[in-house]
Amino acid sequence: MKFLSVLVLTVTILTLNGQTPTRYYLTADRVFDGEIMHEGWAVIVEGDKIIAAGPRAQVKEPAGAVKINYPNSTLTPGLIEGHSHFFLYPYNITDWDTQVLKETDSYRTARATVHAKNTLMAGFTTARDLGTEGAGYSDVGLKRAINEGLIPGPRLLVAGRAIVSTGSYGPKGYDHDQQIMLGAEQADGNELVRVVRDQIGKGADFIKVYADYRWGLRGEDQPSFTVDELKLINEVTRSSGRPMVCHAKSKEAIKRAVLAGAETIEHGDFIDSELGKLMKEHGVTYYPTLAAVDMIAQYRGWKKGSSPEPSAVLNKKKSFKEALASGVAIGMGGDVGVFPHGENVLEMELMVEYGMKALDVLKAATSVNARAFHLEDRVGFIREGLLADMVIVAGDPSKNISDLRKVKFVMKEGVVFRKE
Ligand SMILES: [Zn+2]
Repeated sequence: MKFLSVLVLTVTILTLNGQTPTRYYLTADRVFDGEIMHEGWAVIVEGDKIIAAGPRAQVKEPAGAVKINYPNSTLTPGLIEGHSHFFLYPYNITDWDTQVLKETDSYRTARATVHAKNTLMAGFTTARDLGTEGAGYSDVGLKRAINEGLIPGPRLLVAGRAIVSTGSYGPKGYDHDQQIMLGAEQADGNELVRVVRDQIGKGADFIKVYADYRWGLRGEDQPSFTVDELKLINEVTRSSGRPMVCHAKSKEAIKRAVLAGAETIEHGDFIDSELGKLMKEHGVTYYPTLAAVDMIAQYRGWKKGSSPEPSAVLNKKKSFKEALASGVAIGMGGDVGVFPHGENVLEMELMVEYGMKALDVLKAATSVNARAFHLEDRVGFIREGLLADMVIVAGDPSKNISDLRKVKFVMKEGVVFRKE
């Protein structure tokens, strides 16, 4: 991605001689507050926080404020990417096995810093990373470097290594005399207690579990953990104040994960009305990762638009429609990394294409994700007292979701990272 002008301003939050922190007065044709689109609103930022937001008649320009306004624009809360892998990049450039087995953690981290920057510049000020896939706890270090302001990037929630059952996960198909490093950490039965605690101790913000994997007799997705194992993982995870989240594509794995207490279901390729209802009852948020399926199908030769949709795409469309009809909370997370970091909006475009209203897709990437990640008191809304994470785009993404690609301005915690 190319950025015409990227301007990083340093903001002095508090100065020695007691000057007031930098103030911004932001106006736009439309302000999306995380739930509702308003016209004629203004937002005041002081330091790292939003100190006022509302109709311009009430929210007047304060003295000495830096004015921000673009013609025909929409201001939204900083977008939240719900399912990313900063330590992966598109498989049509380098396949997954090669990235996991042949690339050093230092090389992958160097790449991840660029991915983080591209994500922030695309308007995503927060992101959840669902596992480094063989790069250990490099995500914990990446998060720290971003928090310390050493490199630009979104505020991160990280999984670390993630957990898989013995025998289920890849890379696979190598000579058994070789010790092959896996893309996640293996553990089973009571050993799960130690592994969950170890991952937490090393910096995991949540525990990511592969509740199924494509290890069925015909290569189909089959559960990898028993419901008791998942319950054990959840009990240990939850007692540390963290959530368990589950990769689950098959019906049985989704059911087990939900019953065991997973807060989010990743992928969910076979949701039906019964599962949708179960997820809703348990307050689970669904992350469909439509873009990953779409892009992998294209990497495998599908000519989108001219050749018939492969079964993976058809299943995903059906699953998404069932989930929509069931009323389960649907978050925005595309499994970005499978496709280029910074192209995160692709998932939102597909959500609209598959039948979700554009305004609901905007909510998914802001308020829904903020609530799912327990961040609603900090981000995901334009509201007094919250962190000043904001994006301004040209156009109206509630009418045309792709307008989110026309980023003019990105602010994170009151610091301007992009200003065109
Ligand atoms: Zn993923």
